[in-house]
Amino acid sequence: MNKERFRSQKAEKVLERMGQKLNRQMVGSMVACVHCGMCTECCHYVLANPGDPTYAPAYKADKIRKLFKRHFDWTGRVFPWWVKAGSVFTDEELEELKDTVFGKCTNCRRCSINCPMGVDFATFNRMARGLLVSVGIMPEGVAVVSKDQWEIGNQMGVLKEEYVETLEWMAEELQDELDDPAIEIPIDRPNCDVVYSINPREVKYDPRSISDAAKIFHFAGESWTMPSECWDMTNFGLFSGDDALGGSVARRLYEKVEELGGKRLVISECGHGYRSTRCEGPNWAQFNVPFAMESSVETMIRYIKQGRIKVDKTRNSIPVTFHDSCNNARSCGLFEEPRELLNLVVSDFREMYPNRAENYCCTGGGGAMSMSEYTPRRLKSAVIKANQLKETGAKVVVTSCHNCVDGLSDVIRHYKLGMEVTQLVNLVANALVMEEKAAAVTEKVAVPAEAVAVGAAVMDTPPAEAAIPAKEVPVTTSDGEPEGLPLAGLKLVVADDEPDQLEYLATVFEDHGAEVVRATTGDEALAAVRGEKPDVLTLDLEMPGRDVGDVFETLRKDPEFASLAICIITGRPELRKLIYDRSVRVPEGYLDKPVTPDALVRTIRKVIELRHDA
Ligand code: SF4
Ligand code: SF4
Repeated sequence: MNKERFRSQKAEKVLERMGQKLNRQMVGSMVACVHCGMCTECCHYVLANPGDPTYAPAYKADKIRKLFKRHFDWTGRVFPWWVKAGSVFTDEELEELKDTVFGKCTNCRRCSINCPMGVDFATFNRMARGLLVSVGIMPEGVAVVSKDQWEIGNQMGVLKEEYVETLEWMAEELQDELDDPAIEIPIDRPNCDVVYSINPREVKYDPRSISDAAKIFHFAGESWTMPSECWDMTNFGLFSGDDALGGSVARRLYEKVEELGGKRLVISECGHGYRSTRCEGPNWAQFNVPFAMESSVETMIRYIKQGRIKVDKTRNSIPVTFHDSCNNARSCGLFEEPRELLNLVVSDFREMYPNRAENYCCTGGGGAMSMSEYTPRRLKSAVIKANQLKETGAKVVVTSCHNCVDGLSDVIRHYKLGMEVTQLVNLVANALVMEEKAAAVTEKVAVPAEAVAVGAAVMDTPPAEAAIPAKEVPVTTSDGEPEGLPLAGLKLVVADDEPDQLEYLATVFEDHGAEVVRATTGDEALAAVRGEKPDVLTLDLEMPGRDVGDVFETLRKDPEFASLAICIITGRPELRKLIYDRSVRVPEGYLDKPVTPDALVRTIRKVIELRHDA
């Protein structure tokens, strides 16, 4: 019996679309492998799983290559047994392929650069991901994130209101920090020299990176702005293999910069965002980009070299090491720029080995952080990165990639390394030297020519006395006296069914002055809100009892609780649709676990501000 007759519809489509995707680069990689095995030990999955051949790059590649040989290469049609050609027939086989292309490779390209035959496995692994995505076969997290980027315009489903509020909030924090009410984060200002685009993670989890960048632009006297829409420079199309998504996301950003009349697009520190926007996007979008594009790392180096900002490296004296993001480094060649900047702003930089093109993936690349079903595998493979980090003796690992920040944080937590992760923008902001006068004069930054002169004047003056203050949530005065706890006077209902998590969250809030009522089920959460009338409800998405989505919707529809602020705190981001698919006002806040005390407190303060504005 001929098995070909029973090929599923999805398998048919995958093969048909594979034919449309094959180009010279892809075919070259398909046919060139001589199975020498030189790539095997390049892969962190292999190194962490000795004796398991299913992680070897060539083994994984052969699962895709066999389809090419069977259907698109004459040798496979004539001698399929000889060249190990094969086909795919059922949806179950496609699911197995999914496990390999999404769950056993982060598309880091370390094997690619070590292949003597020039086989770029990561490139055709991405193609295979795209083929599966086109028939709806993908990890759930990939589906959720792709949907958010298609429909809401950014990977984390950040709504415009939330984004703009965050920028305004950060501008206010800067004004307070620097005691200068003129400081701003300009939104949609036309004809600026710089349009600054960011990763939605910065809005959700790391707004400090936005205020640090704003501080640097301010003291550099830059003519800059941030778009109110189409501001996400990340692009899940790179991870999912969906070129249509890649093109759509890139085009939205390019068109926005054009509309604003921006002269240069500066991309904040994100490896896949930089690669997608700067390198792949113009091809995916078929867009002739009329403005310059650069990484913010390059921007910061330029400001220092031009004397537009002055830095004091002794302010960053803790030993630091640097992790090369796979996309920034191996795929885009940004090896020396971050090191040049680091050497300008830190006093104890230690390389990790291997580094640059040979550095190992943080293990969170290729969208792995969104695929929770593969987390145990990812963390096991992370032992390679953990050992690299440990051997540096550094206390802080710096990386120019938000994805790597998350990947490295997981590695550090899992292997109990006791290190912190930060980015160059944070170190540069911390090393900034400024004078009172500079902050006052830079009110004129709207005029670019003057702005440069202002920056130069700062360089000519004696070093400032004032270091940039610490960026923690301010809970004390400069005398060290209590100024009032940041959550004082607030009542929170904290709902989480995991006792450890519940205690952690409640303790953080109580330590910062809040009164906390605990709930462990959906019903308890509802009853506690009705009985206690809190200012904020924090809600885990997975709890026993009444469905959390129903709890959320019930409260949203009840006019008595119109001013209740709700913040989702979840370890299951794929369950967001329980909340966001409902036709009611979205939550004021959202956090993915694990979450730091600083992020918790900042977020609660923010949701309170949003509530009052509502
Ligand atoms: S991909 Fe390259 S290095 Fe790996 S087995 Fe094939 S030829 Fe050798
Ligand atoms: S791209 Fe990276 S993760 Fe994937 S097989 Fe190659 S070395 Fe391993």
